Amino acid sequence: MARRPAASSAKKRQDRLRRDDRAFVWHPFTQMEEWEQESPIIIERGDGRHLVDTEGNRYYDGVSSIWVNIHGHRNRVLDRALHAQLEKIAHSTLLGLSNLPSIELARQLIQIAPPGLQKVFYSDNGSTAMEIAIKMAYQYWQQQGSRFRNKKKFLSFDMAYHGDSLGTVSLSGIALFHRAYKPLLFKTFKADPPYCYRCPLQLRYPSCHLACIQPIEATLKAHHQDIAALVIEPMIQGVGGMITSPLGYLKAIRELCTRYDVLLIADEVATGFGRTGKMFACDHEGVTPDLMAVSKGLTGGYMPLAATLTTQRIYDGFLGAYDDFRTFFHGHSYTGNPLGCAVALANLKLFKRTRLLNVLPEKVRTLQRALRGLRSLAHVGQVRQLGLMVGIELVRNKRTKEPYPLEDRIGHKVAMETRRQHLIIRPIGNILVLMPPLTATLQELNVIVEVVKLAIQSATRSPRHIPTRS
Ligand SMILES: *Cc1c(COP(=O)(O)O)cnc(C)c1O
Repeated sequence: MARRPAASSAKKRQDRLRRDDRAFVWHPFTQMEEWEQESPIIIERGDGRHLVDTEGNRYYDGVSSIWVNIHGHRNRVLDRALHAQLEKIAHSTLLGLSNLPSIELARQLIQIAPPGLQKVFYSDNGSTAMEIAIKMAYQYWQQQGSRFRNKKKFLSFDMAYHGDSLGTVSLSGIALFHRAYKPLLFKTFKADPPYCYRCPLQLRYPSCHLACIQPIEATLKAHHQDIAALVIEPMIQGVGGMITSPLGYLKAIRELCTRYDVLLIADEVATGFGRTGKMFACDHEGVTPDLMAVSKGLTGGYMPLAATLTTQRIYDGFLGAYDDFRTFFHGHSYTGNPLGCAVALANLKLFKRTRLLNVLPEKVRTLQRALRGLRSLAHVGQVRQLGLMVGIELVRNKRTKEPYPLEDRIGHKVAMETRRQHLIIRPIGNILVLMPPLTATLQELNVIVEVVKLAIQSATRSPRHIPTRS
């Protein structure tokens, strides 16, 4: 490597970048004491489904840059849309003004959204989109008359994830993320997730006949007068472990919400824009939620932008004279950012132009076939897949389903192995997550699974797991 004279200056730059990263950057969800000991990969460029680091190494982007990327990096259509918008204006506000791309995008989002959703409220990220859904649902009932004033609480799922702001953390159910902030959170009614591999009712699908719906119905029956909304990640709870729900579950939840006059908030932040094989996860069961949050894939993975979609009924609940003060009191500095909206429009254009939703089923089937080869591995408990979202649950003991202790960091070990093979993945505890960009080729999908298979074998083979500290 040191042949070229430029090599030493490249090495200098690399050392400086690593030093400055350590000195100045605090990384998300990262134990920085550990980070400071490592030499991080520093990404400089993107090229299709690949990331290229400062040393010129290419890595396959196996989790779509944390679940956001759709068409790959440096996509010509998306790049051009951003450039074209830059020639006009980068940002202006939606407070007291409107802007062109946000109008056009709202119209197109309503065209593709589940029927019945009519209005679009913009924000910048998944957490804010969900925060907005919470506030809308709450305020809606407060403005519906005294009969509904007690509808102040929410029903959400254990192991759910809805974001990192305090409202969304309150709705989430990931114990590890909550412990530290518990006194700051509001209380919610909690339901068990439809986690069939570890069924809380110890039943089996389909002979269970979705018995897990009953306790949720019981909660709604007893408390619907206090519940503003039920909050769900439709079809698949992502961060909680890629927990896929059985057929008919989402539809049953929709029916319960309608019956008990509780709003349904669908968090499509991870699932939206083709990730599950359909445009939205709700489309799998023909469900229209009362409020729907989207973000991650909205801009094809290019810009931070989010939207909360809702129905005419909810919207009308906020109408009135100025001094009724039924206004929705919420907004962000970058609400409806024109650059974000312009690239989101190009994202939707690409969906049409490449007929992406039509070519996805073959990719989904190919991935499914490849994943079958993992089931026989000694430490693979279950492989869960919906569309191009995959969770591989690693267990210490396959027969008893005994999990690996978190401190074994088994998922992390597998991810470090795949990285050596130039595949970037990021696990969640013992769950390996695969979420390739939707433009991944059939061959790439097969290679990803093969690399992961070898990495699992290598990371779980040797008895080098640190024993649990007492
Ligand atoms: C990522 C995610 C969020 C939060 O989105 P951010 O943009 O990270 O704030 C919310 N809900 C779900 C289901 C997510 O996957």
